[in-house]
Amino acid sequence: MAQGPKDIADSVAHAGLAASKVKTLLASGNVITEACVPSFNEDVCISCRLCEVICTPNAIKFDNEKYPQINLAACRGCGACAAACPSGALDLPCLTTEQLLEATKAAVLNNPVRPAIVGYLCRWCAYIAADRAGTSRIRYPPNIINIQVPCTGRLNTETILTAFAEGADGVAVMGCHVQDCHYRSGARYAKSRTDTIREALEGAGIDGRRLFFGSVSASEADQFAEQVNDFVNVVTKLGPLGREMMGKVTRTQSADAEEMTGG
Ligand code: SF4
Ligand code: SF4
Repeated sequence: MAQGPKDIADSVAHAGLAASKVKTLLASGNVITEACVPSFNEDVCISCRLCEVICTPNAIKFDNEKYPQINLAACRGCGACAAACPSGALDLPCLTTEQLLEATKAAVLNNPVRPAIVGYLCRWCAYIAADRAGTSRIRYPPNIINIQVPCTGRLNTETILTAFAEGADGVAVMGCHVQDCHYRSGARYAKSRTDTIREALEGAGIDGRRLFFGSVSASEADQFAEQVNDFVNVVTKLGPLGREMMGKVTRTQSADAEEMTGG
């Protein structure tokens, strides 16, 4: 009944399955935990509790404390909390926000092809699909430089806007099909965040089509190539973002940071 109304036979069967999963876990004598768990800096935490709401596996609780208590055994290492934290109190040591920003800058600066596109690919689906496209010799435009992220939910607003501010003509955020997200909610968070950023870009006079959210499964190499191809065509028609537009992105970024921190 924990999942929803069901008859007695199904309830008994599902309860038995749950019990056997627990028994297997207890019998092993070990719990394998995620190596990449968030770091926390209480000096900058503003106790907004957003991380508690965001964390789908319920690894973050407050338990009447001022600061979040992270259950490292329950954490799946998706990084969604670090992306959502408005003060930077949470970070993901295996892919810190600083590392993401540096990787983003390098992806723009080292891309000799125009229009230049930065692709953020989740490691469970989109990145594997891109890899498969490569090994299967499926052609897609060289305009995109891919950065692997644990989950698209790890991507924070600052990173995406930095890509534009550094000179990217387009940004592609590509992950699993939303309903198949390895972390259940990460792709949904990423979709919602890209929708919000697109609106902010439009508000700043920048065409929102420069920010693409795509979904593929790990086996969909063809679809990956097709989506990249379509996106490159769109950005090519829009032309270079240009210096003037880059200035607008920088201003949008400052306003976004102020809004998030209440400053
Ligand atoms: S989201 Fe960040 S600032 Fe808010 S309570 Fe969690 S750690 Fe603190
Ligand atoms: S949001 Fe993800 S990374 Fe953060 S505590 Fe929860 S499971 Fe771990």
